[in-house]
Amino acid sequence: MTELTRRSVLASTAAATLATAIGPIALTLSARAAAPAAGKQVPGFYRYKIGDYEITALNDGVWNVELQDGFVKNAALPDVQKALSDAFQPTNIVRIPFTALAVNTGSKLILIDTGTGARTFPTAGTYMDNLAAAGIDPKAVDSVVISHFHLDHINGIRLKDDSLTFPTAEVQVPAPEWAFWMDDGKMGTAPEGLKGNFANVRRVFSTIAKDVKQFEPGKEVAPGITSIAAYGHTLGHVAFAIASGNQSMMTTVDATTNPYLFVRNPEWQGVFDMDGNMAVDTRKRLLDRVAADKMLVAGYHWPFPAAGYITKEGSGYRLNPAAWSSIL
Ligand SMILES: [Zn+2]
Repeated sequence: MTELTRRSVLASTAAATLATAIGPIALTLSARAAAPAAGKQVPGFYRYKIGDYEITALNDGVWNVELQDGFVKNAALPDVQKALSDAFQPTNIVRIPFTALAVNTGSKLILIDTGTGARTFPTAGTYMDNLAAAGIDPKAVDSVVISHFHLDHINGIRLKDDSLTFPTAEVQVPAPEWAFWMDDGKMGTAPEGLKGNFANVRRVFSTIAKDVKQFEPGKEVAPGITSIAAYGHTLGHVAFAIASGNQSMMTTVDATTNPYLFVRNPEWQGVFDMDGNMAVDTRKRLLDRVAADKMLVAGYHWPFPAAGYITKEGSGYRLNPAAWSSIL
C-alpha cells in the first residue's frame, strides 16, 4: 500500500511537472492551429541522376476515372477491385496520375512527352506550373520527344490558346505512330470512340507537320536516349532507354499504366490498350528486361515521382518505388 501510494504520488508529481512544462507549448500549438490550411499540394517535380544526366520528373496532376466493368478487358470487375484494394487504392475510381520527364544531358534539354495541356481534366494540367517551379524555361528546351499520340502525352505541345509551348524546340515522334494517326483512311473507318483522338492529333500537329521529325523505333533520339519499339498500347507506342556513363534507366511510358493492376497482372489488357495481346507481350518483354537488369524504371502513370524498380513476384511483377532522396 505504502509503495503504491508513493508511486501514485510520484506519478502525480511527474504529471504535474509535465503539465507545467508542456502547458505553454500546448497553448502555442493551439494558437498556431488557427493558421489557414494551405488547401493545395506542393509543387510536383522531383530530380534524380542517371550518370551525368539530370532527370526531372514533372507531374501534370491526375485523372480519377470511375471504375466500371470493362476497364480491364479480360478481368472481372471484382478481381480488378480486389487488386486495387490489395494495394490500398480506392475501388470506385482508378487514379491515373501523369508524370513526364525532362532530361538535361549537360548540352541538351530534352522533354519526353508533354502532359495534358491543361485542357481536358479539371484535376490535371499542372505541368507548366511544375516546369516553372523546377526552373525550366520552355524556350530553353531543345527537343520534345513523344512516345505516342494519346492526348495526355501530346496536348502539352500547345498552350490553351493553341500557340506552341516550346517555340524553339524540335518535335520528334515515332514514325509508325505518325503513319497510323495521320492516315485519313484509318480515321474514316475508325470506331466512333477513336475519332476524337484522330481529330486531336490533327489539331496538335497539322500546322507543324512539315517540321516534325519522325524517328524509327530503335533509333537514338538524343545523345544517350534511345527509343524502343513497345507497340500495343497504341500501334506505334515507344519506350525509351536513357544512358549516361555506366548508369541507365528505362521509361516504359504507357506499356504499363496503373501498376497495381498491370504490373501485378501483366496479362491484363487495359481499356486504353489498342491491341491488347500485343500490349501484354510488350509489357512482359520490357518488365522482364528491367527486372533482370535491376534498372531504374519510370512509368508515365505511376504514383509520383513515378520511378522504381521491378521485381518478379508470383505470376506477375512488383513495383518497388524509388525512395525520395534529398541529394542528387
Ligand atoms: Zn498515357
